[in-house]
Amino acid sequence: MQTFTCLNDAPCELCGVLISFVAMEKQLEDLKQQLEKQCLINKELQRQNKELEERLKEKENLVQQLHNQYHDLEFPSTDNENEPEFRKSRAAVIASEPIPETSEIIRNRVKKTASETNLIVKAIQKNDFLSRLDDEQIAMMVDLLMTSKYKPGEEVIKEGSEGNSMYIVAAGELVVTQAGRNLRNLTSGDVFGELAILYNCKRTATVKAKTAVHLWCMERQTYRTIITNKSKKKREQLMGFLKTSRTLKDLNDVQLSKIIDSMEEVKYQDKDVIVQEGAEGNTFYIILKGEVLVTKNVNGHQKQIRRMGKGDHFGEQALIREVLRTATCAADGPVTCFSIDKEVFEETIPVEHLELFDDSRMMQEAQAPEKLNPSSTLRFKDLVPVLYQEGRFQGDPVTLGVGGFGRVELMTTLNHGTYYAMKRVGKKHIVAKRQEEHMLFEKKILKAIQCDFIVRLYGAFKDTRYIYMVMEFCGGGEIWTKLKEVGRFDESIAVFCTACVVEAYAYLHKKSIMYRDLKPENLMLDVKGYVKLVDFGFAKELVRGEKTYSFVGTPEYMAPEIIKNQGHDFAVDFWSLGILIFELLVGSPPFSSSEPQKIYAKILDGVLKYPPYLSEAAKSIISKLCRPRSGQRLGNTKNGIKDVRHHRWFSSMNWHKLRMSQLDAPTMRLIRKGPCYINFDRFPQDQTKAEEEFSGWDRDF
Ligand code: ATP
Ligand code: MG
Repeated sequence: MQTFTCLNDAPCELCGVLISFVAMEKQLEDLKQQLEKQCLINKELQRQNKELEERLKEKENLVQQLHNQYHDLEFPSTDNENEPEFRKSRAAVIASEPIPETSEIIRNRVKKTASETNLIVKAIQKNDFLSRLDDEQIAMMVDLLMTSKYKPGEEVIKEGSEGNSMYIVAAGELVVTQAGRNLRNLTSGDVFGELAILYNCKRTATVKAKTAVHLWCMERQTYRTIITNKSKKKREQLMGFLKTSRTLKDLNDVQLSKIIDSMEEVKYQDKDVIVQEGAEGNTFYIILKGEVLVTKNVNGHQKQIRRMGKGDHFGEQALIREVLRTATCAADGPVTCFSIDKEVFEETIPVEHLELFDDSRMMQEAQAPEKLNPSSTLRFKDLVPVLYQEGRFQGDPVTLGVGGFGRVELMTTLNHGTYYAMKRVGKKHIVAKRQEEHMLFEKKILKAIQCDFIVRLYGAFKDTRYIYMVMEFCGGGEIWTKLKEVGRFDESIAVFCTACVVEAYAYLHKKSIMYRDLKPENLMLDVKGYVKLVDFGFAKELVRGEKTYSFVGTPEYMAPEIIKNQGHDFAVDFWSLGILIFELLVGSPPFSSSEPQKIYAKILDGVLKYPPYLSEAAKSIISKLCRPRSGQRLGNTKNGIKDVRHHRWFSSMNWHKLRMSQLDAPTMRLIRKGPCYINFDRFPQDQTKAEEEFSGWDRDF
């Protein structure tokens, strides 16, 4: 600090000013120091803040990682590392209808010793998928396995080839390789290739004999033929039994068939009491196997009244009124019954009549005059491809999607009025995959359909290489892509999307068409955010009360009765609706694995695990739709699809406004604005040209 001395004797005015100046300067100096100190503190605080922020971010990442890990563990997705070229979507599978020719199969049967049977049963029991088949199916497999022998070095199955047999090793050693890499060895009691008994899947590995090898094997055709015939016979037999019941005699075949779908098999040991005299009755039984003794208490003694056997039934009164059992029925030796509870019966059969699918509004729509159909003026030569405007593929035709069978391109007309999605499929490929019938049927169905929740078909064309289907363009993109973008949907979006599917189902089922390939990949959004079903390759017409036995669908979405080859009907669509709701809300389906046989095993187990964030209403509708017994499934009970619409998960849905397109779709926030193809992945141009095909299957296309 500066000092000074006054030249005057007495303190003068100037001195006073000077002194206060000095004091001020000192204060300033102090302030400056304080400021500097404060600055330092601030800097330090800022540094600490930054550090804390970084640590917080790290923690958040960690929490996210843990959340993902938890989610993967609880709800594993089917994705694996080998992403295909563009994106991963699940491939559907299909096996053609079986050719029932049982006599030959039975004639070629090979007798097995007790130890051989033992080895086979043990092998089946330790296999993930096969062990889930029911006792009858397992017994049938044991009975029908054939033998085959291989020398050291011989290939049993080849990676990439199409499989049609499954094997159990009886003796010897084999090696499994994939892309030249040794994976594992197989020895006595091991099972391989088991997926091939369900459908014509591609082999994912090569299996070669290391030593001389003895195998038990079964062809798909054998398995499917036997199972199909067995299931058909069993249904016919049950139908016959039901028809002898006085209570049920007025029901028609469709109703009886529904009862069979709701019934469950129960097994009893010797002396087990099935029905107790005096107890409240609420179950009806048919005896499938074994004998049942009917006794009554007379003066404190059990008096035998009669003996019942296969085909006899008891307890039918319990189905229609409150009753107390008037006698005791007990198993005499092992007994198998088919049973149905009163509660389930009441859900299956309405007292007065059976109306499966109400829907007066749909009826009116079906009778309404055709909406303006652009196909009347649409000519193939007027269609021109829309080209990418920018980016990597600028100038190339826009491809909207590449499916298992073909490619879908964006087209417009020369006068540039409307956009169309044109599906183009190579005819040779269709023939090679034996999909002629499916293609013809897809076109036939789509052409006949007039529903706002199903994509319109405006025209079908063909040339020597391809068939073409010109459809309404759904500009909002695929639900699948949107779901992958956001991870999982809010309940409001999931409710809206599912409601659109319910409306499409109501329309299709009313026309006796099953859809059979529900999954997010086959749901498209239009520009208003409404959902439409596309891809009718697996749809099928079915007479009510009848069953079909083909193996079709996408593994994650298949109902248990398809996997078991028991014969299926419209109820499979309700099962897949439950799976869809789960996938929309969770981001991955409830039964998933990278190995299809594991998916099938999980479906047959039927254990649904819900993440904690699902609402009670969501859990309720999913578990009701995914009931293993098709006759008990929501949508397939007596009120039909009405019960689905009335479920509380849909309480916020105004079905009438939905049908009239008067609702603001919550899906709009998923749709991007920009060029018309902005909501689609981009695909490079198809440089290849399909081979010509002249067999003439497409005459009526
Ligand atoms: P897969 O059998 O593998 O499901 P596919 O060859 O039968 O496929 P589709 O599922 O009909 O073909 O269509 C393939 C893709 O093309 C769809 O996933 C979708 O991205 C797109 N696509 C299909 N139809 C339309 C449409 N009407 N509007 C817009 N895009 C469409
Ligand atoms: Mg598809």
